[in-house]
Amino acid sequence: MDFLDVPTVLKVSALFNLMAALAWLTLAQAFRIAPRAGRLMAAAHLLRLATQDYGNHLAGWPDLLRQAVPEYGLLGGMVLLLLALRRMLRSRRRPRDIAWIAGLGALAIAAGLAAGSALLPELAGTAAVTALALLSVREVMQGVGDQLSRAVAVATTMPFALLALMSLGHGAELLLEPGLHGHLLHGELPSPARAVLWFVVTVAITLSLIALMIWRVVMRIQHLTYRDPLTGALNRRAFEQALADAQAQLQRGHGFALAMIDIDHFKRINDEHGHPAGDAALQHCVRIWQAGLREVDRLGRLGGEEFCALLPLQPAGDLASAAAVAERLRASLAAQPLQWGGCELPLSASFGVALPVPGDAAGEIGLARADAELYRAKAEGRNRVCVATHLQGSP
Ligand code: GH3
Ligand code: MG
Ligand code: MG
Repeated sequence: MDFLDVPTVLKVSALFNLMAALAWLTLAQAFRIAPRAGRLMAAAHLLRLATQDYGNHLAGWPDLLRQAVPEYGLLGGMVLLLLALRRMLRSRRRPRDIAWIAGLGALAIAAGLAAGSALLPELAGTAAVTALALLSVREVMQGVGDQLSRAVAVATTMPFALLALMSLGHGAELLLEPGLHGHLLHGELPSPARAVLWFVVTVAITLSLIALMIWRVVMRIQHLTYRDPLTGALNRRAFEQALADAQAQLQRGHGFALAMIDIDHFKRINDEHGHPAGDAALQHCVRIWQAGLREVDRLGRLGGEEFCALLPLQPAGDLASAAAVAERLRASLAAQPLQWGGCELPLSASFGVALPVPGDAAGEIGLARADAELYRAKAEGRNRVCVATHLQGSP
């Protein structure tokens, strides 16, 4: 186990920090992948590289600096890591909590140093790092939430939990084992187990962040592939796929309804207020309808100002509740005019609701029936919901 002697582990760790910093910078600068998170991660690795003690790295420095540099380095690195994590997860949380913990930690380290204590600065640094590590655990759990499988979410969170546990353990050690904290001042190296554990956690955290970055890129590609860029609704292709999937579930008793939607006199908005107003109106409508739909419902933009909502039903043939959803969407749009250039543009839409037809693999017949009802709603004066009650699900 010669290759596992502590100075070697520390050197490998230093090399890893350097390589990781370069990799993050390359991804950020050359490929524009997670640029801000990448720069923060690079800074975290470089700070760790510069301030980690490698046995004789800080030898010959005044005692005060030999104590202060690793403590502030570790704290700063943890702050950068947490900020990177928030960027990677697109968290909107303000960094006030991080600033408070890091600020108090930094002050307590300074107070301990000023008092000439060997224990207090390390204890304060460890407490602040533990609190920040616990924050990062919460961050990852909330960030990936139920969007990833449980196993992947746990594996991604684990390195941060391990870091929190190690910091906590180190804090307990400092309190329970007097004299331990003096190791740095006496130029002592950490034990092999400790050095290896720290290295493993550093690598695991980096892998975790890489996994989160790949997840982010995949989500972005999925968004570009399945979503309409103007409104964020499903594009036609994705909606047709969702419809085909729902049709396949029909045989198993999972029913759904289709609500075809067309904005009324939309051409007038373009003609009277310009194309940008028309675009804003489309976004306005989708925002309102998405807010009125459940998570299981699917809203697709089939083209121009024509949309369709796929509404899973329980029980399967409950056309009345589908009609009620459509009516709610109609009423909420009619009640919320678009604010445009200082004036209010009233908007309305017509709805045609129908049930799918069993045996129609792509769902085209159900779609045509909903379209026929939409046509009727237009003919009957617009801003209304028409329901295909006479055709209830019969082929
Ligand atoms: P109706 O009540 O009968 O549905 O009348 P309408 O004016 O809404 O219907 P029509 O089909 O005559 O007009 C649709 C217009 O939608 C025509 C087209 O220029 C406009 N349009 C289609 N896609 C977009 C888009 O992405 N942005 C904007 N601003 N306008 C669009
Ligand atoms: Mg229209
Ligand atoms: Mg139309």
